[in-house]
Amino acid sequence: MELWYSEEQTANVRLSLKVKEQLFSGESEFQRVDVFDTYEYGRLMTLDGLVMVTEKDEFIYHDMIVHIPMAVNPSIKKALIIGGGDGGTARELLRYKGIDHVDMVEIDKMVCDVAKEFFPTISNELNNPKLSLYYEDGVAYMKGKSNLYDLIIIDSTDPVGPGEGLFTSEFYTDCFNALTENGILVNQNESPVYEEFAKEAVRANEKLKKIFPIVEVYQAQIPTYPSGYWLFGFASKALHPTKDFKPQEWNRLNLTTRYYNTELHLGAFALPTYVKEYIENG
Ligand code: SAM
Repeated sequence: MELWYSEEQTANVRLSLKVKEQLFSGESEFQRVDVFDTYEYGRLMTLDGLVMVTEKDEFIYHDMIVHIPMAVNPSIKKALIIGGGDGGTARELLRYKGIDHVDMVEIDKMVCDVAKEFFPTISNELNNPKLSLYYEDGVAYMKGKSNLYDLIIIDSTDPVGPGEGLFTSEFYTDCFNALTENGILVNQNESPVYEEFAKEAVRANEKLKKIFPIVEVYQAQIPTYPSGYWLFGFASKALHPTKDFKPQEWNRLNLTTRYYNTELHLGAFALPTYVKEYIENG
């Protein structure tokens, strides 16, 4: 009998992946965590039935959430990851020799434990001595922090369940206060294709614009996320993602990447007209 994993991406759209076997299923205090071995995408982790990472396309998301801000300010020293329990964002950040320290605040220890057991190529830096891992709610962690981080990456689930508070103005204000003067915040910002996701992207963008002087949206093609077309938010106190972008400096670091490159960096901010209109007009 064939085994398929199906994600209901919207009420009218599903993504189905043929599965060799299910490797793990557990219920944490916060969510259900499942791991499947799929034919096309390798191992897949889902949270509450929604795709989080697959071995085959995780590099796209992690390249784009890390290397875009790092190429705008390659001198970033202190970074914070909110969420990111699979470890992919930490892995990419810790490739930069100039990074002194990364704090990571993941609400659900089970996600990290499962990643360590089933996704060694993604979670392999979670024990790096430059990383401090806190199992806490990111919203509570951010309260009262001031002038601490050069970069905050919000690698969250969707704005439902434990991730909901990570899409609020209060949380973005706490992040603003926690950033240093050239500080950058990056967040995953849903898909513009399906209305329910697009609305969230627009709302997040509007909230960020009320708090940060520089706010831009960028894009990537991620096959296993709803519609395969994903947006990210870039917000900064002082640095513009294309005008302050430092391609030569980044290229001198000689990091090999499979998705990100410095030509793609500019293209990622060149949004299709319908997306621009949606973001501007809601
Ligand atoms: N790449 C994924 C995507 O866009 O579908 C998201 C990555 S997944 C690693 C996001 C992580 O955020 C999960 O491990 C989840 O437990 C964590 N998370 C959700 N809400 C959180 C909160 N309030 N504080 C800290 N971490 C949270």
